[in-house]
Amino acid sequence: MFHISDCKKYTKCPHYFVKEMNADKEAFQPYVRLDEEITVIAAQKLGIRECFRGQRGDAPERAMEALEKEEWLVKARFSYKDLRIKVPFLHRNGNRWDIYFLFVGLFPHADDLQFYCDTVWVLENLGIRLENYYIMHLNAQYVRGKEIDPEALFTISSCFYNHKNHPTLPVKETILDKMEDLTELLEQMKATERKTLSAPVRTSRCTIRQKCKYYEACFPEELKMPANSVLTLISSQYKYAMNSEGKKFLKDTDIQRLEGFRQQYSQIMADRQGGLFVDRMALRSWLSNVRYPIAFLDFEWERFAIPPYEGMRPYDVLPFEYSLHVLHEDGTITQEVYLSIHDDRKDMAEHLIRDIPEEGTIIAYNAEGAEKIRLQELAETFPEYREKLLHMCDRLEDLQIPFMTGTVYNTAMKGQWSLKCIMGFLDEKGYRDLDIRQGMEAVFQWRHLDHSEDDQDLEKIVRDLKEYCQMDSYAMIVVYQWLEKLAQMHPFEEENEKIL
Ligand code: SF4
Repeated sequence: MFHISDCKKYTKCPHYFVKEMNADKEAFQPYVRLDEEITVIAAQKLGIRECFRGQRGDAPERAMEALEKEEWLVKARFSYKDLRIKVPFLHRNGNRWDIYFLFVGLFPHADDLQFYCDTVWVLENLGIRLENYYIMHLNAQYVRGKEIDPEALFTISSCFYNHKNHPTLPVKETILDKMEDLTELLEQMKATERKTLSAPVRTSRCTIRQKCKYYEACFPEELKMPANSVLTLISSQYKYAMNSEGKKFLKDTDIQRLEGFRQQYSQIMADRQGGLFVDRMALRSWLSNVRYPIAFLDFEWERFAIPPYEGMRPYDVLPFEYSLHVLHEDGTITQEVYLSIHDDRKDMAEHLIRDIPEEGTIIAYNAEGAEKIRLQELAETFPEYREKLLHMCDRLEDLQIPFMTGTVYNTAMKGQWSLKCIMGFLDEKGYRDLDIRQGMEAVFQWRHLDHSEDDQDLEKIVRDLKEYCQMDSYAMIVVYQWLEKLAQMHPFEEENEKIL
């Protein structure tokens, strides 16, 4: 028996589908926190009192029987030709049914219709005639009071939204227009389960948006590629072609097939010069903006689909931790870390104001996309601290700029410029011995703080979270000091720095 998610996986890539079918089913950790029973709140919005409620593992006949006598069916399980679906809400409308899809986001767009189309395909084939089609989604304007207000939390729409989040295409007509017969797809999926697939072929689907989680398993040879491989060329659509033509290294790149990005230039120059490229003038110019005392700031945060605290909107962010290292002109370093379990944003803002020096530069990695936004959110939530928090925003500098702009490239970066990647060759030990090594791991662990009753467990999580966040702000000092050294270095001295 398949689910719609299996169809999506197969449509993405048969190899992906097979690997997922055979994978250990570890507990799924959503990237966005959803503590509430969202179907229960949505049912309140729809005014449902009496209903048939489907259960995990239900025989499909159960829902079919419920169609005979119930007004509302909630989470009913149906199946047709080995495809099993779960329908959020069905409401009787004469001898037909109205369907309510549940979208746990702000604006359902019509760019991924498979879930809707496949659901309707199953229902239609079972002879369940649908009249009206609706999508319930979270209301972007909703601001939580003391309690959740189901009426205001959700919006019921009969249209999808466009990229400007304006309602456009009608749900019913769009689904019926795009719906396809799944018979052949399901046959192919069944056959694929039984046979051995030919070797995977790399296509854009392997790296589009983000690298497929099975990339290394499918293409293990890339793990062994040298640091200056042409395959590390950033944003290049021809790198695989060049590699297969024998142009194996960055320095061999066919200049005619470059897109012309500055990072590509610095990568090629780094390889030609033995491993390191520095645009010293540009680097000095960037560093000239930085003033002592230099505060290195890193936030950790959680995003909630349903606002858990008063004054929050759907998908608002709750910062729960920051780490701060301050580098003073005399070379001394001070350090602070702040960690909260619940909503302590006001206290956090007060600590930030106390901990961050009133003058000097504040450095963050991806400052524009993260720390600046967090400071602006705090400023908006606590107008009494607005001026001080916005003054911090004005003093922010983004440490990833020298790497994003191709000002500095070391082939050891292998086409990446994350803080962890750069720290990886500057200070190998860095993140290696930590129990938490990634931002999302920190979030997953933080979620336990609320629930675990084991004191030792809690102590360990708190310690791990602090160590991880502190490493992020410390790593920024290491990278910053390396950049300073590169900027001051005479070109001939670079020889010693090339391969780190
Ligand atoms: S890496 Fe590419 S070929 Fe391999 S499973 Fe992912 S999408 Fe499919």
